[in-house]
Amino acid sequence: MSRPNVPGADREIGVRHPVLLHGYVVLVDYMGNDNAIVQAARVSYGPGTKTVRDDRGLIRYLMRHRHTTPFEMVEFKFLVRLPIFVARQWVRHRTASLNEISARYSVLEEEYEVPVPEEVRHQSSRNRQGRGDPLPEEAVASFRGDLDRVSRDAYASYQRALEGGVARETARLLLPVAFYTQWYWKINLYNLFHFLSLRLDPHAQEEIRLYAAELAKIGRLVCPVAFEAFEEFQIGALWLGRREQRALRLLLEGATSNAACAAAGLPLSREDGTPMTTGEGVEFLEKLARVREAL
Ligand SMILES: Cc1cc2nc3c(=O)[nH]c(=O)nc-3n(C[C@H](O)[C@H](O)[C@H](O)COP(=O)(O)OP(=O)(O)OC[C@H]3O[C@@H](n4cnc5c(N)ncnc54)[C@H](O)[C@@H]3O)c2cc1C
Repeated sequence: MSRPNVPGADREIGVRHPVLLHGYVVLVDYMGNDNAIVQAARVSYGPGTKTVRDDRGLIRYLMRHRHTTPFEMVEFKFLVRLPIFVARQWVRHRTASLNEISARYSVLEEEYEVPVPEEVRHQSSRNRQGRGDPLPEEAVASFRGDLDRVSRDAYASYQRALEGGVARETARLLLPVAFYTQWYWKINLYNLFHFLSLRLDPHAQEEIRLYAAELAKIGRLVCPVAFEAFEEFQIGALWLGRREQRALRLLLEGATSNAACAAAGLPLSREDGTPMTTGEGVEFLEKLARVREAL
């Protein structure tokens, strides 16, 4: 019995996929492929059902019906180099195994993130966690200049501290979150899909989305059919709550969006009559817009 492999993915092992200024994602190893998902699923369904669905149909069925454990049969190990502010978001995902470079043991390099000018934008007025409209050129240049200066100064202080005999574990306190760290990150496909569904989403910060996109690109090489199902039934899916379903029914019966939302209890305006920019009603209209775009 030979080890199942995917030639296209094998060629990717060890290849650096650049992300941001100094970051990258590398596929170090993987175990399993689309067949491993099918194999695990057929164990639970038994041989009698073998001919009921083809492999692609079975994977799509598993994804639709949240029969999740067969997806855990596929594993990925990545080496990731990333700024500390991205790492802090990333590490919130608890269902992976992780080993990070020790800045108690190693001296960190003078590598820090400076966003490209287009990514330095106004605070979003709609999303309190996000970026919005472009800023004037001078404001962008001033921010990027400050970030560069502060980071260089910080690294010079770090070096001075090391040269003065301060322990590495203490000297590192001088380095801000724009500096880079790196780690090995091992995760199974089910949890990778969970990570990607949160971190490819437009609500996630742009920088971590770029990493997520690279992980997805690599993962797709290993399990193209599972990724196709993930994109169809998770990334591309729309969740409709009970009120949203009621509003949709009213729309199908000919009501206007405003009337349907009002009748279904999905508010679009405040008590004083001013239109809402966030909330359940607005999100429902955004879902409808997505459906219209998809047609
Ligand atoms: C756009 C965005 C904004 C965010 N903003 C903030 C913020 O402002 N502040 C902040 O602190 N965090 C923030 N987060 C982090 C977020 O709250 C989650 O911690 C993170 O997305 C990891 O999600 P998770 O717990 O589902 O993933 P994982 O840790 O990978 O867990 C996967 C799943 O395993 C289960 N699980 C794992 N551990 C436990 C446990 N101990 N108990 C119960 N179930 C468990 C859950 O079902 C969970 O969904 C943000 C995340 C996103 C995507």
